[in-house]
Amino acid sequence: MRMPAPKAIIACPQCSWEPTGAEQDWQCSCGHAWHTFDTAGRCPRCRHQWLTTQCLRCGCTSPHSDWYRATAVQWYQQVSPN
Ligand SMILES: [Zn+2]
Ligand SMILES: [Zn+2]
Repeated sequence: MRMPAPKAIIACPQCSWEPTGAEQDWQCSCGHAWHTFDTAGRCPRCRHQWLTTQCLRCGCTSPHSDWYRATAVQWYQQVSPN
């Protein structure tokens, strides 16, 4: 079952852009595009776990876990496969 993250506590570590939750613009190497923070970086089609995430605003790539602010870490640890 999908467990959407609290949106306001996820932000780009470089430019502080906060995804609204409506973006479906992260594309996996398998061709599937989805909202990566709904799945903690795991592609829902091929199950590939992405450890880095590119910002849709500034274009930088950061470790996926760095996007979660302190209050979101607990959520991330619950859904993270590790
Ligand atoms: Zn994929
Ligand atoms: Zn950014």
